[in-house]
Amino acid sequence: MATILDGKSISSAIVGELKDRIRALAAQGRPAGLTVVVAGDDPASDIYVRSKTRTCRELGMAGGEVRLQATATQAEILARIEALNDDDSVDGILVQMPLPKHIDSRAVLAAVRPDKDVDGFHPYNVGQLVAGVAAPRPCTPAGVMEILRRSGIGIAGKEAVIVGRSDIVGKPMALMLLHAHSTVTVCHSKTRDLPGVCRRADILVAAMGRPAFITADFIRPGAVVIDVGINRIDHRDAVERIFPGNAAKLAAFDKRGSVLVGDVDPAAMAERSSAYTPVPGGVGPLTIAMLMANTVECAERRRGLG
Ligand code: NDP
Repeated sequence: MATILDGKSISSAIVGELKDRIRALAAQGRPAGLTVVVAGDDPASDIYVRSKTRTCRELGMAGGEVRLQATATQAEILARIEALNDDDSVDGILVQMPLPKHIDSRAVLAAVRPDKDVDGFHPYNVGQLVAGVAAPRPCTPAGVMEILRRSGIGIAGKEAVIVGRSDIVGKPMALMLLHAHSTVTVCHSKTRDLPGVCRRADILVAAMGRPAFITADFIRPGAVVIDVGINRIDHRDAVERIFPGNAAKLAAFDKRGSVLVGDVDPAAMAERSSAYTPVPGGVGPLTIAMLMANTVECAERRRGLG
């Protein structure tokens, strides 16, 4: 029977551990503060932004939003970031992706002061990650490391295979697992014999954005499977195919018009692995917890407490 790695309870534990530090920062006369910069009116971004700033406020931190029109120019966005860089009440700046198509996202991310870069995407912090030096780390892979660590899953000496090489998940994940002494393989769309490579994994991380793509023949029996993917399924026949005989999923689909599925086939993952993260409720809740942890750390470092 595979162990379900419960991201919600791990996330609550991490957030719970931050509370004393948040109180200590607030006791200095100014709470730790995160500001999210969002441009445009993407409804999904809107939900993420609200949940980030709401969580901040629930924890006793300051959570602000800078909202710009979809037509905002590069210069306008850069000017707002410059102002936040100079604002001493702001400890963390997060630029919500995606930015409108006409904006150079890399240039915007590079404009955030590295010591306020709570997403860990600034080139300086990417370099710190490569070097293994303490600095804000990208939240999703940092959350995966917390799941593994807090679940007592050994990493040193293990074969880790990551499917996906994005800047926000796959690449930083590879570096974090490498620093933790696993032997790392990174796969992508040009990888030959993907199932064969994945079957080598003691720890398999799927971060590709392809619903239920990883099936039983990719999973070595007893592997730990971390499913980072979050895919919305809005066709009933796909729900029936991915969740055969699962009346609860079909009922959820009929109610909401969509259900979420990861990059790994849920039944295969439960049958073949020794432990796995479910979708939803696995990696997802960790991302916001790690954002809060990064904000607290940035605040402490900026005030000489870190
Ligand atoms: P990207 O689209 O940026 O990257 C996807 C990666 O998967 C690419 O490297 C791509 O390869 C690879 N890939 C795609 N199809 C295949 C294939 N058929 N075979 C092998 N490799 C393939 O995605 P992200 O990294 O941003 O996100 C990945 C998933 O994680 C998404 O479902 C996203 O929603 C989810 N996510 C979840 C988060 C959470 O909080 N849990 C946070 C962030 C993302 P190539 O480079 O060759 O194109």
